[in-house]
Amino acid sequence: MPISENAKAVLERRYLARDEQGQPTETVDGLFRRVANAVAEGDRRFDSKADVVATAKEFYELMVSLDFLPNSPTLMNAGRPLGQLSACFVLPVADSMEDIFDAIKNAALIHKSGGGTGFSFSRLRPKGSTVNSTGGVASGPISFMKVFNAATEAVKQGGTRRGANMGILRVDHPDILEFITCKNDTREITNFNLSVGITEAFMEAVSQDKPYDLVDPATGRVVGQHSARAVFDAIVTSAWQTGEPGIIFLDRLNRDNVVPSQGEIESTNPCGEQPLLPYESCNLGSINLVNHLMKTPAGWVLDRAKLEKTIRTAVHFLDNVIEVNQYPLPEIDRMTRSTRKIGLGVMGFADMLLHMGVPYNSEEGVALAEEIMDTVNSIGHQASEELAEIRGPFPLFDQSIYRDGRPIRNATVTTIAPTGTLSIIAGVSSGVEPVFAYAYIRNVMDGTHLIETNQILKDRLVEAGIYSDELMHKIVEQGSLAHVDGIPEDIRRVFVCAHDVSPIWHVKMQAAFQRYTDNAVSKTVNFPNSATKEEVAEVYRLAFTLGCKGTTIYRDGSRNEQVLNIGKVN
Ligand code: ADP
Repeated sequence: MPISENAKAVLERRYLARDEQGQPTETVDGLFRRVANAVAEGDRRFDSKADVVATAKEFYELMVSLDFLPNSPTLMNAGRPLGQLSACFVLPVADSMEDIFDAIKNAALIHKSGGGTGFSFSRLRPKGSTVNSTGGVASGPISFMKVFNAATEAVKQGGTRRGANMGILRVDHPDILEFITCKNDTREITNFNLSVGITEAFMEAVSQDKPYDLVDPATGRVVGQHSARAVFDAIVTSAWQTGEPGIIFLDRLNRDNVVPSQGEIESTNPCGEQPLLPYESCNLGSINLVNHLMKTPAGWVLDRAKLEKTIRTAVHFLDNVIEVNQYPLPEIDRMTRSTRKIGLGVMGFADMLLHMGVPYNSEEGVALAEEIMDTVNSIGHQASEELAEIRGPFPLFDQSIYRDGRPIRNATVTTIAPTGTLSIIAGVSSGVEPVFAYAYIRNVMDGTHLIETNQILKDRLVEAGIYSDELMHKIVEQGSLAHVDGIPEDIRRVFVCAHDVSPIWHVKMQAAFQRYTDNAVSKTVNFPNSATKEEVAEVYRLAFTLGCKGTTIYRDGSRNEQVLNIGKVN
């Protein structure tokens, strides 16, 4: 099994089944067998004579080769008593005490099972409105978000994952300014990512420098106006300072709402890549692109035949996950089965480019992104249509925007996930992000340091006859190869890290993947510490014009405790 020591450690710590003493009762190989067997059982629902053993073997090989991995809850829970396999959920938050606290309870149940939750708080009446039954004053969405946050904090102590939330507020909610800055105190609402739900009317008002209406969601009445530019600037300033809030383009999410009869899409999952209707859940899975290259005399090229086969098996796998999943709530069971959304995406894209010798920040890189995602999307849709011939289309197909076309099994097929843990298990770059750093220093127990180097770079430098500890130290110090002496130009061009890629290229790459993705793309646009607010604003505008569904930015050093550091000894 081509699994690294690091990946083994991650799996052993959090993913393997354990006994009551906390000792693992399975090996890594056993984990993949458990998941494959449990998911293959889905076939039996459609054919009592199905060859489940053959399907299980196919699924096992798909995972053990690291060609494809399903999202973490599937790896953790398939074939075990909990049986909750989805990563993403969206829960409604209606404007009453009962509904608010129901949502908190339901979120707690989901977090316990390893899923993440997204909420729109846009329906809550603004701070200061009256409460009819008591004659009191409403405390507003932000105060309730703090309660959701505290509940998440308590649940995470006992769970396998930290518990992650997305909180969304529409830009025309009267409390929007409080929302935009509510995480500026970095101790607040720490278990949430925040995004402002932007409307096209708002973007139009920004470009024309006009005021726009604020609407009280409880009454539907216009209760005031803000200058669109002032609010846009407030979002940009806060994002420049702290990385939050991000933005999502609500009209765009709803243009791709496959079953509008079921209501509006108001929120996404925690990392933003999966817009969902209230009570929907989604199963993600990611294809490891590095494993879909083949060596030719001209160098590494995409192995299209293998990629197509993986896509088909992955769609079969993810559709089975919907069948065998044990949902945390009856409403989620019903909604998820009625649209059957799956989110197949990719990981290791940046590593793939390194092998192929193509810079991430180049037209050629963007063209490859389009070619690959076009394939995943079109073959993925074909596979889902073929499944529909045997298993039937998703139950709400007749109400869907696809109803005049060929029946399809899954209302959505593709999503680009962050693959935070999956990419560590597969040993490749995460999602479609560029490589963050090529070399960094790891502290070792006895107080000494160890340099960890990206293997693809190391191989390339050894091949060029220039690998040395001294060179690696320089790369660590500078956080990039860009200004290190003695590196040949052909290597420097290709081995770009996240900070060498200008924000504009980050957005272009996100937009390229978005063009061929049903759902959305998880992507962070990295800025250097020296970036200005205007540069951030430009990226927001560009994301809008290039058709992205949202954007998240991060300026290096803008948060005290950032997860990844460049050029620093940790
Ligand atoms: P993984 O690599 O572990 O499968 P990703 O990093 O791809 O997960 O994240 C995919 C989705 O899984 C996120 O958008 C979110 O919905 C959910 N998720 C990620 N991390 C957590 C967490 N710590 N707790 C709960 N949900 C999470």
